[in-house]
Amino acid sequence: MRRIVIIGGGIMGSAIAYSLARAGAAADVIVVEPDPTYEFAATPRAVGGVRLQHAIPENVQMSLYGDEVYSAFDQHVTGGKVTFDPAFQRLGYLFLVQGAEALASLEANVRMQQSLGVEVDVLDAAELRRRYPSFSFHGVDAGALSPGDGQIDPNAALMGYRRAAEGLGITYLKDRVVGLDVVGNKVVAARLESGASLPVDIAVNTANCWAADVCAMIGMSVPIEPMRRQQFHFLTQDPVEPFPAMRHLAGLSVRRHAGVYLCGHTNFNEAAGFNWELQHEVFEESLWPQLAEQCTAFETIKPRGGWVGHYDMNRLDGNPVIDWYDKVPNFLLCAGFSGHGLQHAPAVGRAVKEMILDGGFRSIDLSRFSWQRILDGTPIPDDGPKA
Ligand SMILES: Cc1cc2nc3c(=O)[nH]c(=O)nc-3n(C[C@H](O)[C@H](O)[C@H](O)COP(=O)(O)OP(=O)(O)OC[C@H]3O[C@@H](n4cnc5c(N)ncnc54)[C@H](O)[C@@H]3O)c2cc1C
Repeated sequence: MRRIVIIGGGIMGSAIAYSLARAGAAADVIVVEPDPTYEFAATPRAVGGVRLQHAIPENVQMSLYGDEVYSAFDQHVTGGKVTFDPAFQRLGYLFLVQGAEALASLEANVRMQQSLGVEVDVLDAAELRRRYPSFSFHGVDAGALSPGDGQIDPNAALMGYRRAAEGLGITYLKDRVVGLDVVGNKVVAARLESGASLPVDIAVNTANCWAADVCAMIGMSVPIEPMRRQQFHFLTQDPVEPFPAMRHLAGLSVRRHAGVYLCGHTNFNEAAGFNWELQHEVFEESLWPQLAEQCTAFETIKPRGGWVGHYDMNRLDGNPVIDWYDKVPNFLLCAGFSGHGLQHAPAVGRAVKEMILDGGFRSIDLSRFSWQRILDGTPIPDDGPKA
């Protein structure tokens, strides 16, 4: 029996636990998660987009698998006493660009996505105006529309994975890892806040925004930091035709969400770290005028508050590390998803199961998300949508 300790029971830790359980290893696994309500975790604070538009093939492939799982969740994630429905809907994504250089890169990404089977096309501004007449598309030359991209309820997906993992025999321990004991070059125990200690053969770090703190317990320094993402809700007085999740690659994003509209904002220039303040003035003074410029119905809006969450931002390249640590090779880091972890959790769950039980990647080769690139300071070239 191997003692596999998963540190953090959000969607990533739970999808990994579920995949290990499905492969018959449930008795080997303990998930340590301090907060069963997930108050500050990213997963319940996610918007729920499952987009197929990415700039690197591995991210597209992972999203395609996420689409497959989330769109038929009751067939893929089974074993729990109760079932959860993540309410998958195909609402689409539209990424907008301005300028020849941005357009060329959008077109290249779209060709790559099409080669992997994604339904996606580049439309010029006139065609965009014809399809979505409420919008001016001011400052837009073209957009890439993928109408089948999905939207889910993140909390239902998390609970679905967790309850299924538990139903298959996985133990979730309500505790927090506060230290890791290393003997030689191996983690041998996880020390817990309660004072207890767990023996470890393999440690998996899925602590997301707290992943760097867990890495620091074994002297591993990673460029992953919490980055505030603010989400503002609003209603409109005048109706707007249905439209996909729209994102100008230079910044502004807007979509329909649970009966209201939603505008997301990340200030990549602000200091990293946890910051739970929702800045209403950012919406009033900066985002609202930009929204109104795009759509006259957005001039007469009624703000309805919003919420704050944090990305586990990988400062090197906005992509995760899914790899063993060279200096402590029974420690696996799985964090740095930088705003797209929900859609990738099913693929990551399967991939980490393959790393642990099958000796390496079998379904999608994720070796590009290596620890070595962090050591080398070599970012994965990624000019695609970032959130
Ligand atoms: C506002 C917002 C919108 C987003 N929208 C999308 C989207 O549309 N699509 C998408 O794909 N992704 C989206 N994301 C990203 C997505 O939410 C995350 O990538 C994903 O939820 C990460 O899952 P996780 O399990 O790694 O992290 P979390 O859900 O944060 O779970 C990590 C867990 O680790 C636990 N933990 C921390 N420290 C310790 C410790 N020392 N010991 C034990 N446990 C510990 C925490 O309690 C926590 O529950 C969004 C994120 C935000 C913030």
